[in-house]
Amino acid sequence: MRRIFTPICAALLLAALLSSVSSQRMITDNANSLREQRIAQAAESLRPQLIAQRRDFHMHPELSNREERTSRVVAERLRAIGLEDIKTGVGRYGVTALLKGTKPGPVVAVRADMDALPIQEVNDVPYKSLVPNVKHACGHDAHTTIELGVAEILSHMRDEIHGTIKFIFQPAEEGPPLGEEGGAPLMIKEGALENPRPSAIFGLHVMPVVEVGQIAYNSGPAMASSDHFIITIHGKKVHGAYPHDGIDAIVVAAECVTALQTIRSRRIDTTEPLVITIGSIQGGNRFNIIADEVKLEGTVRTLNEDVRKKAQSMMRETLDGITKAYGASYEMNYSEGAAVTYNEPSLVEETLPTIRRIVGEKNMVSPKPQMGAEDFSYFQRVVPGFYYFLGVGNRAKGITAQIHTPEFDLDEDSLVIGVKVMSNVLLDYLDHHAGSR
Ligand SMILES: [Zn+2]
Ligand SMILES: [Zn+2]
Repeated sequence: MRRIFTPICAALLLAALLSSVSSQRMITDNANSLREQRIAQAAESLRPQLIAQRRDFHMHPELSNREERTSRVVAERLRAIGLEDIKTGVGRYGVTALLKGTKPGPVVAVRADMDALPIQEVNDVPYKSLVPNVKHACGHDAHTTIELGVAEILSHMRDEIHGTIKFIFQPAEEGPPLGEEGGAPLMIKEGALENPRPSAIFGLHVMPVVEVGQIAYNSGPAMASSDHFIITIHGKKVHGAYPHDGIDAIVVAAECVTALQTIRSRRIDTTEPLVITIGSIQGGNRFNIIADEVKLEGTVRTLNEDVRKKAQSMMRETLDGITKAYGASYEMNYSEGAAVTYNEPSLVEETLPTIRRIVGEKNMVSPKPQMGAEDFSYFQRVVPGFYYFLGVGNRAKGITAQIHTPEFDLDEDSLVIGVKVMSNVLLDYLDHHAGSR
């Protein structure tokens, strides 16, 4: 049987369909905005607890791979909140836990880092670091506090959660001590992204140049890859008055320093950001002896993995050519650190409306990508991720110091905002992907 579809009945059908779609959307929107209001109220009522928690972490900072107390506090809190499958000792002091919703759906992860820096606190605040020469100068005290706040709020909403949230508390983001493994790569190696494996991961970092209330983000590359190299130039030692009898490693090194900069200026596409920095140069031991060895140490930063690979091979070509021309030789010990922090554009696209709803369009900022690095990028190599920046600065209150400085502090109003935004981001992600597991 074939139905006859006149334009009039088609129009009526479309109108009915549209009205049912729009009423459906209204119901969903209303439910979402009610849920959002409940999260906002819950986050507000957590304010004193969030501030107290952040101050406790701030007063007891621990260096990378030494986060014994912090991770104990985190695990105790997660047990008290009632999360499932709490694992400690993942990648040394890492902690993971699951929050299982009652509705079917995918798994999403959220990560906070927990370590502090070897910096002396100079701020005269009631929550001043109690540990000499150690300070939460990168805001990881806030990151950990916010993730605990999110866990607490969402633990009361299990009936509305489509799927599972995996909470990851990571040590050693700033890099493990020499000779130790640590940070995101070790957590991944020890299974933090398996059983269950999340289909996406979110994280945030405080940003003092962004005012409290604002969220900054990048789609695509957000932060640079960060590699470390040590070059040793070998020459031949001889009396300083007879250089022609030796091979002057200092002259060769000087040429290498200049030539390495031409990779940036003359060989890599000028629209691609690249930094080759030699931060340390050492060689020679007396004014009248030709040096037989010079060590150059530095870092390479890029926003593109292809440029990263090219830069490394061009460095070898350059060093090879110059040292050969002088009869010298070289070794380069090149170790790859964090990859490019790459925010999957489709994930950013679907998440932005949520963030916009919570903080408002005027509070969304999209700065240029940064040449600093972040080891969240290791997680993003395994699953798509979105790493955004939480505004914590407040010019009116004089909170402007950059991270990694002795003066760094943050506006604690950002804690509540961070909890609100991340809670909604996770729930909305699970809602959007509820059909896929
Ligand atoms: Zn840092
Ligand atoms: Zn940091």
